[in-house]
Amino acid sequence: MSNNFEVIVIGAGAAGLFCAIEAGKRGRKVLVIEREEKAGKKILISGGGRCNFTNIYSSPDRFISDNPHFAISALARYTPQDFISLVKKHDIKYHEKKLGQLFCDGSSKQIVDMLLKECKDAGVEIIYNCKVANISKSDNFILITSHGEFECESLVIASGGISIPKMGATDFGYSIAKKFGLKLTEIKPGLVPLTLHKRELDVFGSLSGVSFDAVVSCNGVSFNESVLFTHRGLSGPAILQISSYWDGGKEIVIDILPGIDIIKEIENNRSAKQLNKFLSLYLSQRFIDKWCEMYFPSRPVNKLSPKDIIILSEKLHNWKIIPSGTEGYEKAEVTKGGIDTDGLSSKTMECKKVKGLYFIGEVVDVTGWLGGYNFQWAWASGYACGNVL
Ligand SMILES: Cc1cc2nc3c(=O)[nH]c(=O)nc-3n(C[C@H](O)[C@H](O)[C@H](O)COP(=O)(O)OP(=O)(O)OC[C@H]3O[C@@H](n4cnc5c(N)ncnc54)[C@H](O)[C@@H]3O)c2cc1C
Repeated sequence: MSNNFEVIVIGAGAAGLFCAIEAGKRGRKVLVIEREEKAGKKILISGGGRCNFTNIYSSPDRFISDNPHFAISALARYTPQDFISLVKKHDIKYHEKKLGQLFCDGSSKQIVDMLLKECKDAGVEIIYNCKVANISKSDNFILITSHGEFECESLVIASGGISIPKMGATDFGYSIAKKFGLKLTEIKPGLVPLTLHKRELDVFGSLSGVSFDAVVSCNGVSFNESVLFTHRGLSGPAILQISSYWDGGKEIVIDILPGIDIIKEIENNRSAKQLNKFLSLYLSQRFIDKWCEMYFPSRPVNKLSPKDIIILSEKLHNWKIIPSGTEGYEKAEVTKGGIDTDGLSSKTMECKKVKGLYFIGEVVDVTGWLGGYNFQWAWASGYACGNVL
């Protein structure tokens, strides 16, 4: 293998492979350097093994960034329909699970195989188990690696965030950014389960595995999906979504009876039934027993005064919890924050100050909602970059 390339991409994940394909299709001589023994490890474990590869409702307001406008251009130029066409071309069968989330009928491996096939067809070379020790720039970029020295005109950093370190996640991208004078926004675990303080955990910890539908709100944003108790706190789609908007110490508000006018329901069903039994019409008995134990001791429904009913309704629709923290990068699906987009071109992902250096995918301060949005960002940012290299 010659050690001179027009393009070197660091990271054979979703964004890196996609960018390499686009550059390769345009006849560029492309090398992808991957430190793990295989490509796309996160793709393989994504979507419970079925890869939620895009979301048909992708739109810029489903992405979080210090600059919410940054992602607009790239997302507009490579859409979910474009990726669906590619999936169809490879005869990969898929289905919509819910809320526009598209999953493989088979397995995530089909997506990795598709990307590797496209790489091969585009003449992209990939080396695995390769550690990059140093990067310097004169006219070109010089990379010192465990596989020798490489030189390239354009260098793309697609090394992802730091969530799930055991999958090979590293802070490599952030170090390279700092080295070349780029700023970083604050990073923190995103799409991550939240933990509860001992007071709540002593009551609800035994409910691990129990779930309920809710509207969960924080910082002016709400998600209507399910919430799941875990042995450390709360998870489930609504909690994972809100975790990306939650700042330590702040409260989240959970409407545990969304869409139900409990005041009317009680008024229309006055009886000697215990409140916890009555509420089990809407929520699991185990959950509501614990909830009443902590927030509203049960009593016969016909003994509730009008004021009691208003207080009960307020508590059920606005259950306020201050989580003790998150389960951290070990459990986070994404890293929120990253390379400050002020330093990048939104059209090409190139650094404004360092010609030929590009950042794409999760390493950039663009974080999608749960539901296929993070892969859509990986494809779109990879496409934007791969088409100008
Ligand atoms: C459990 C889990 C499930 C997920 N499910 C979904 C889902 O269904 N849908 C969705 O949209 N998103 C999902 N995500 C998020 C999604 O996987 C990521 O946002 C996406 O993979 C980011 O793509 P990327 O290419 O930027 O980074 P990655 O896919 O993480 O790829 C980065 C690559 O760079 C390599 N690398 C790191 N450091 C170096 C280095 N120093 N040298 C060389 N290579 C390096 C890594 O080994 C990796 O191969 C999930 C994440 C997790 C953890």
